[in-house]
Amino acid sequence: MNKNLKELIALSQIDKEIDDFNPLLEAIEKKLKKSQEKIDSVQSDINAVKNSIDENVTKIKIYEEQIVTLSEQLKSITKKSKDVSTEKEMKALSLEEDIAKEKISFANEEIERLGKINEKKAASLEDFNKDLEALIESQKESVDSANATKSEIEEKKSTLFATREEKINSFDQKILSFYEKIRNWAGNTAVVPLKKQACHGCFMKISDKSYSDVIKSEEIVTCPHCGRIVYIESESAES
Ligand SMILES: [Zn+2]
Repeated sequence: MNKNLKELIALSQIDKEIDDFNPLLEAIEKKLKKSQEKIDSVQSDINAVKNSIDENVTKIKIYEEQIVTLSEQLKSITKKSKDVSTEKEMKALSLEEDIAKEKISFANEEIERLGKINEKKAASLEDFNKDLEALIESQKESVDSANATKSEIEEKKSTLFATREEKINSFDQKILSFYEKIRNWAGNTAVVPLKKQACHGCFMKISDKSYSDVIKSEEIVTCPHCGRIVYIESESAES
């Protein structure tokens, strides 16, 4: 086989190996993003529960203040009732008293109801916090293992880059730029084998004439349909 072609096949293999790490890295990032989203979602649930507890506490305070005011009102009604002379005045005071008592009992009921709601919310808050703790713990482990994998990949990649550097230094620059041009649009299928006389990049069959050129492999041959560099993968298998 043509020496340049051999070198090109090896270079394209290295380029492919370097790029093959990308989906792995993307999968790692995706996993981390997903677990961070879970954490964010539980955190936002916690915030919602906390806000609602705070709102209820504020409501309870308002009812408590109302009770204080209403109790004072009741005291003054009792005072006034001592000086009342007519039945009409008595009735008016007694009505006022009933209304105040009703308001107090409503306020007490609301305080009790909101208190119970807050107890339940506090319990669910505890559950959420436990969930959050567990998620953060597992996120830490994921980050650690992701970092370990990433640095392993980086190491392998830099070894491959070094090998690549070494290779292209001794490369015929014309052939290298020809390869890079094809790689710009074909990516990692810039150099492809022929299988059953068909280009493994565009999957179209090539003519007998082109095929025999590839077999001779005196020079670099491109697929007449798509322009990728083609070669015979295993000469014995093809012939
Ligand atoms: Zn092709």
